[in-house]
Amino acid sequence: MVKHALAMHFDSQVFRPPQEAYTPLLQVTHGCSYDKCTYCNMYDQNPFGLSSREEITSDIKELASSAFPYNRIYLVNGDPFCLSADKLTWIMDEIQKYIPTVKTFSMYASIRNISTKTDEELAYLRSRGIDILYMGVESGFTQALTFVNKGYTAKEALEQLKRLEKAGIEHSQGVMLGLLGAGRGIETGKENGKFFSQLNPKAIWFMSTTVMPKTELERQRDSGEYIEASEYERVQEIRAFLESVDMKESTYFNSIHPTNTFNLEGYLPEDKEKMIKQCDEVINDYTQDTFQKLFNRNKNSRF
Ligand code: SF4
Repeated sequence: MVKHALAMHFDSQVFRPPQEAYTPLLQVTHGCSYDKCTYCNMYDQNPFGLSSREEITSDIKELASSAFPYNRIYLVNGDPFCLSADKLTWIMDEIQKYIPTVKTFSMYASIRNISTKTDEELAYLRSRGIDILYMGVESGFTQALTFVNKGYTAKEALEQLKRLEKAGIEHSQGVMLGLLGAGRGIETGKENGKFFSQLNPKAIWFMSTTVMPKTELERQRDSGEYIEASEYERVQEIRAFLESVDMKESTYFNSIHPTNTFNLEGYLPEDKEKMIKQCDEVINDYTQDTFQKLFNRNKNSRF
C-alpha cells in the first residue's frame, strides 16, 4: 500500500455550506474580500488574500492523486467569486487538466462579486460549470443592510441577483433574523418577503443575528444602541416573511440553524400555509418570557 501524506493548504478556519458536505474543497482565497459587516468575526483569524497559483496547482495535484473520479469541486474561502472571471477560468482549467472528471464548481459569493462581472462573463462562467453560488444577502430591506454595513442596498442586491439568474447561475440565500434589533422584526419580515418574491433562489436559509465578540455590533449592544430582538419576535419575523412572500417557483425554505430557536422546513409556495400555522402555534402557545427561557443566544450559539 502506498503511504500518502496530505499536504493541502487550508486556513485555520474553513466554512462551507452543508449542501456541499460531500464535495472536495479547494482553497483559492483567504478570508473575506469585504470584511466590514458589523456583526461578523468569521474571518478574524484569516485576513483576506489570494492563494498563489503554485499552491492551487499543488492542491489540485493532491486531489488528483487520490485517483477518485470527482465530478465537482467547492472553492473556499469567504468569497472566491471575488476573483476575476479570468482567474476563475484559470482555476477551472487547471482543475480539469488534472481531474478531467470534474464538471461543476461552486463557492461562496457576495453581491459585490457579481457586480464586478459583465453579463457575458457570468454566462461564460455558467457555461464552464459554475452552477450555484451560496450567498448571504442577509436581508432585502435597505435599512437593515445599511445598519450592519453590508455595502449595498436592497435595490442593488435585487439588480445583481437578477443578472445572476439571467446567466443561469442558481443561488442559495442566507437571511438573518433580528438584524435591526428589537421591535423591527415584523416590518423586516414583510420587506424580506417582498424582496424574495421578485427572485427565484434555489433555497432560502434563515439564521439569527447573534452578537459575536469583538464586533461593532457587540459595541452597539453594550452601549445600548442595539437591543437584541427576543426569540419570540424572531418567530413573528419568520411569520411576517411567510405571509408576505409570493414565490413563483418552488423554493426550499428552512430555519434550521444552531442560532435559531425555532426550526421550520418546507417548500414555498407549497408549504406556506402549513408553516404559517406552525408559527402561530408557537406564537399562541408561548409567552415572550417562556419562549425566551428556551434559548440563551450567546451561550448556545456555536458561532
Ligand atoms: S458577513 Fe460575509 S461579507 Fe460580511 S464580513 Fe462576514 S464574511 Fe464578509
